[in-house]
Amino acid sequence: MNTEIRSTCPYCGVGCGVLLGQDDKGLTVRGDPDHPANFGRLCSKGSALAETVGLDDRLLSPRINGEDADWDTALSLVAQKFSAAIAEYGPDSVAFYVSGQLLTEDYYAANKLMKGFIGSANIDTNSRLCMASSVAGHKRAFGSDTVPGLYEDLELADLVVLTGSNLAWCHPVLYQRLVAAKAARPDMRVVVIDPRRTATCDIADLHLAISPGADAALFNGLLRQIDARGAATDFRAHVDGYQQALACAQASDLAMTGLSDAQLQAFFDLWVGTEKVVTLYSQGINQSSSGSDKVNAILNCHLATGRIGRPGMGPFSATGQPNAMGGREVGGLANMLACHLDLENENHRAAVKAHWNAPAMAAKPGLKAVDMFRAVGLGQIKAIWIIHTNPVVSMPDADEVAKALSVCPFVVVSDITAQTDTARLAHVLLPATAWAEKEGTVTNSDRTISRQRRALPAPGLARDDWQILADFAVQMGWSDGFSWPNAATIYREYAGLSGMAGALGSDFDISDHTLISDADYAAMNPFTWPLNARQKGGRFFAEGHFHTATGRAKMLPITPRGPQSLTSDLPFRLNTGRIRDQWHTMTRSAKSPRLSQHLAEPFVEVHPQDAVKLGLKPADLVAVQNPQGRCILRAIITDASAPGQLYAPIHWTGETASAARIDVLVPALVDPISGQPESKSAPVAITRYDADWYGFAVAVADITPRAEYWAKARVTGGWRMELAGRKRPSDWVSYARQIFNLPDACAATVIDESRGMARVAFHDGERLLAALFAGPSPVALARDHIASRLAAPVLGEALAGRPGANMPDPGPVVCACLNVGLNTIRDAISSGQALSVAALGEALGAGTSCGSCRPELSTLLTRFRLPEAAE
Ligand code: SF4
Repeated sequence: MNTEIRSTCPYCGVGCGVLLGQDDKGLTVRGDPDHPANFGRLCSKGSALAETVGLDDRLLSPRINGEDADWDTALSLVAQKFSAAIAEYGPDSVAFYVSGQLLTEDYYAANKLMKGFIGSANIDTNSRLCMASSVAGHKRAFGSDTVPGLYEDLELADLVVLTGSNLAWCHPVLYQRLVAAKAARPDMRVVVIDPRRTATCDIADLHLAISPGADAALFNGLLRQIDARGAATDFRAHVDGYQQALACAQASDLAMTGLSDAQLQAFFDLWVGTEKVVTLYSQGINQSSSGSDKVNAILNCHLATGRIGRPGMGPFSATGQPNAMGGREVGGLANMLACHLDLENENHRAAVKAHWNAPAMAAKPGLKAVDMFRAVGLGQIKAIWIIHTNPVVSMPDADEVAKALSVCPFVVVSDITAQTDTARLAHVLLPATAWAEKEGTVTNSDRTISRQRRALPAPGLARDDWQILADFAVQMGWSDGFSWPNAATIYREYAGLSGMAGALGSDFDISDHTLISDADYAAMNPFTWPLNARQKGGRFFAEGHFHTATGRAKMLPITPRGPQSLTSDLPFRLNTGRIRDQWHTMTRSAKSPRLSQHLAEPFVEVHPQDAVKLGLKPADLVAVQNPQGRCILRAIITDASAPGQLYAPIHWTGETASAARIDVLVPALVDPISGQPESKSAPVAITRYDADWYGFAVAVADITPRAEYWAKARVTGGWRMELAGRKRPSDWVSYARQIFNLPDACAATVIDESRGMARVAFHDGERLLAALFAGPSPVALARDHIASRLAAPVLGEALAGRPGANMPDPGPVVCACLNVGLNTIRDAISSGQALSVAALGEALGAGTSCGSCRPELSTLLTRFRLPEAAE
């Protein structure tokens, strides 16, 4: 019998429960109907998880300078290099850079090792890039990094304000919960505050296309209105700083928001006039050089009105990664201790030191991410260990990070694959287990701790991250503190420490689990912290009782600061973010052909007015650049953002495109409080990239990129690649043989030298093996159709570049779950067959599985509905 294992999706901070099973094709994944985050729902990424567990690109053995090695040799070399650096230059000469992909038990081991045994706090996490400003804002206002509310507050609210959050694409299941709640209670109002019109605007009653970076000015304006309309409540008895915050709000200029008076009044009327209001914010607030202030401007409004910690009301920070919250709780940031204790508090340090029996407790905060890589570049860090993250792609000023690592004396990378831009720079690579092979816990955005459970055996020599760190600790001579037999033992130690933290006043206290048995840990159901004798789950702060010295919260005086100024040389502002079906640097999600179909190529959105000025046509390539770096991207012309604003996704790497690591353009400019970089507002220039030729290729085997511009993605049964260059190949057939590595395969060709057109297909007599289509302008082809012909027996049709009359072209995929294409949807709408999202679901199945594409279906309905069918 197929017994399913309860685990957790390893992508976003929603933290959906999954059921992992087996069938004759391998792993199966479906939503866990009993998990409180998703109640059975999954988004497109979660539903495609089973397609990402193949071992084809896995790192299966430790490697030293590219050669396979055994664990003892590799770890003894790592220990020797770290020991030598510590002995000669002190503990601050080494560093760990870790990830929100780690499980809490892994994080605990890394943090204990660095802060308690090495004696430095040089451990920081990539969560610094996504929610450090929330942490700083919470700590300044509440005295603790506490998310006061729960997911269900979004469903209970009468007004949900989504600011700096494309919830529909970045937290899709939470968005679907909100959509369902709004459908059940049509009086609920949703406001989206975002410079860009995103898929989330589909449910917005009001979209405020605010000027980039002006959120603090808007919430200062709201505070003024709260005061002027007498909406501040008795809750102010639990709050300090009201008058100072108000004085600053009075002085700030609403013109900065770029919003009309009518828009501002509509927002203020809704917010002030609705008691049950949740303000959810995410990367659009946090990823800013004034992110902490923006967070506090939001918290000020909730504190002034007492709309916090009660059902249906409160500020809510949506975290990016599966265990970003767990990392915060366990002290994964360079300026925090485990269990929300303060590194700079002597009593807290002493308590942790005693619990760990630590020989060398760090006494001061370590380097935050940007400063850490700067220190690597300056030669101050002699040995760095990077765990499950790809900073050469994801850090701001990414080319500088690559340079820094290339001169670092010793770089260790633990990961599931060696095929990352960062792994290529490592002296030692250590193979780690992947999400479906590990045991541990994660915490999602609403403080729910869930188990991740092993459903697949560890492949090759891969080990769990906590085990790798513990084995390293043994090599360093610290076996006593790290001799855990399993993840449950680490969890018990952590829960025990949290009890001590609770006694010191910390909010994070799960001490009910201090003595949890291995069996109970194995069977643990999701629960929301805290979990102790005083409180079990629930919300925080409805009655006051904050974690400050006075017990009162603090409203902060906020003077809004805008982003970096544009110049005549850098006249465009580049916003960056995620797309619906990919995750971070795509090491996992790009393995699914289904997920790669939605948006298969790196792109930049350009406003139509700017396109005219720049002489751009749809599908042209553009160079986006500034003094730090340069990217070549496909232009998508859309009015989603205002003129002068560009938007590009963060996912493409040196492995998947020639020049699309978007963080090479992002300046290493950080919030002075949180250390979080400004990732949404890079000044750039943009010009048309004049290629001499453009191409599109598909092949059953991986394609070797030989072109100035290329971008590749998986398709079912093979690969696809976009190509372009300034110098046209002199012989198309031999060029095609080289990129496909098919020196002897039979070729069919259609070449028109006078027009610069070439179509070359290779076959084995029966099946299409590869095809190249090239021309002097971007080639217009039914790409998904051509890819679907790989290994199919209809060669002539593939060379035609479009389907035969007997086979309609479904067009680019919109619904990844049910594989429904744009053309199919367009035909159903324009024929009048389906005139609502529900009808499209009934007719085509589109949007009926995970629901992530429903906002796009809605947009297509508006776009393709015939005038006479509009009523
Ligand atoms: Fe995974 Fe999607 Fe749920 Fe996020 S919303 S945890 S990506 S299934």
